Amino acid sequence: MSYLVLARKARPQTFSQVIGQRPVVTTLRNSIIRNRVAHAILFSGVRGVGKTTLARIMAKAINCQAEPAERPCDQCLSCRQIATGSSLDLYEIDGASNRGIQEIRELKEKIRFLPTSSQYKIIIIDEVHMLTTEAFNALLKTLEEPPAHVYFMFATTEIHKIPITILSRCQQYELKRISAKELYDHFLQLVTAEGFTIDAPALSLIVREAGGSVRDGLSLLDQMFSYGEKNISNQDVVEVLGLVNRDVLMRLTKALLDGNRSGAFLTLEEIFDFGMDLKRFVEDIMDHFRTLLLCKIEGCTQLIDLPGEELMDFQNLAAGYTSETVHLKLSLLMTMAEDLKFSPLPRLTLETSFLKIIEAANVVPVSTLLGHLDKILATLPTGPVPLQDILQAETQVETKKKIDSEAIKVSVEAKSITSATEKPQHPDILPPPSSPAPTPTALPATAAETTQPVTPPEAAADLQEAKPVEIRPHEKDVRKDWPDFIKYVKERKVWMAQDLQRADSVKQDVTGELHLTYSDPANCMVLRQKENHQLLTELVLDFFQKPLKVRFIVPKIDDTPDANGDESPHRKRQQLANDPLVVMTAEIFNGQIGDIRIGPKSR
Ligand SMILES: [Zn+2]
Repeated sequence: MSYLVLARKARPQTFSQVIGQRPVVTTLRNSIIRNRVAHAILFSGVRGVGKTTLARIMAKAINCQAEPAERPCDQCLSCRQIATGSSLDLYEIDGASNRGIQEIRELKEKIRFLPTSSQYKIIIIDEVHMLTTEAFNALLKTLEEPPAHVYFMFATTEIHKIPITILSRCQQYELKRISAKELYDHFLQLVTAEGFTIDAPALSLIVREAGGSVRDGLSLLDQMFSYGEKNISNQDVVEVLGLVNRDVLMRLTKALLDGNRSGAFLTLEEIFDFGMDLKRFVEDIMDHFRTLLLCKIEGCTQLIDLPGEELMDFQNLAAGYTSETVHLKLSLLMTMAEDLKFSPLPRLTLETSFLKIIEAANVVPVSTLLGHLDKILATLPTGPVPLQDILQAETQVETKKKIDSEAIKVSVEAKSITSATEKPQHPDILPPPSSPAPTPTALPATAAETTQPVTPPEAAADLQEAKPVEIRPHEKDVRKDWPDFIKYVKERKVWMAQDLQRADSVKQDVTGELHLTYSDPANCMVLRQKENHQLLTELVLDFFQKPLKVRFIVPKIDDTPDANGDESPHRKRQQLANDPLVVMTAEIFNGQIGDIRIGPKSR
């Protein structure tokens, strides 16, 4: 007894048996009923979504002897001949192996004659994009004036490779990937029909692997049937098909989100032991995070193509984290995927990247921080009310984001000020002299929802005017944070950091200017060029979060030629920097001019 593979055995024979593709099926069916079938039809879409299946069903329907609404009946002589492959009027051509002009000429020869047993001759060309240009040209003439007794059905996975002249003469149908739900239901039905049972996670795994292609899914099922177990378990699928268990991926996802180092590393070990394809694994884990992110975005769950139970697992997991956290970690995974492409030590890259992801602590949304602040501010008195001198409300919320070893730290501090006369303790909350301080009455409505009054009872004893609170983020100090600034610059422009390091002193003067003193003007010559100066000013603004005018303090240059009539070194350097050859070299290598050293003259 010969074994018929599932993909052939389960091939739909009528329109109603087609999986998915409802809009296309409806249109085709109507074209049969109304007798308005185009003489050339092109089906496009990824593999295994039913292109040739639909072409064959159409071939049957066109020649079927039943009532139009019943076609294809799958019972009449023509239908049976097509189903068994014995029809003399159906030509199925594989475009990949019959791609030349000679084959098309032979085909044209064949269609010159009227059909033998059916009403129409049907030509199905699969992978039609493989035809040569000459073959397409030869075909074009026929498509322009197709004989009344001939219908063409084309199928392609690469519609963009088909000449526009051909496309414009075809009625086109784009077939979609089959949704996970449709595949799941279809496969479950087949499994039962074959006398097997399958665990839900096992079937989900096969559906995931199929990636929207019925044929791919069926060949996986075939493998499972050959394995022989009457009940197909998740473990069987994992072992037979060489897939990573979904549970393992879920565990890893959770470990990365929870910042669970050992969990992540042990799971990674499991995955390596399993010998999973790395690229595939990284894609899978990113896909997990993408699904979680979609769960966090309102109204986006319909974009998640997963069977119901699995979707619920994702939604439950997503509920425990903010969308900011999921987003941040997904971005880091994407960086990791990029790094892996060039890594000679993929495992090490994975491990270090995982550490980075784990260390990117949970992110608190800014809105939450502001909410905290509102609550604190709401506890402050709204007008001139009694206040004791030891009144304090302090909260400190910190959020950390670490991206690529660069830490962005947002620290918000709020402190109530005891009285107008008393000096504030914290320099960071000094009110700026000019800007008006926000008054508590101007607070948002949520501020009223305070649950935490912090005024001690004895506060009523002292009658003094309350001062509105001032909040300012932690400011960086030019002198104190200068080394950090150089590091910051180094990550962006190495040469600029080097030039900055050569400065003899750095200070911020009273007017807010940033003074960089260089005893040797050559050390800052490139830095002083207009665009570099501008870039430096921008970096200063980015880092110190305040606009500082950058000024270079250099000794006065003697530009007069020396006794030998030679030009001063300063001018020479300037000339060299502007030399077209130097400028071009810098451009070609996308570099910057660093040091310019003037050696002894060549003679
Ligand atoms: Zn029929």
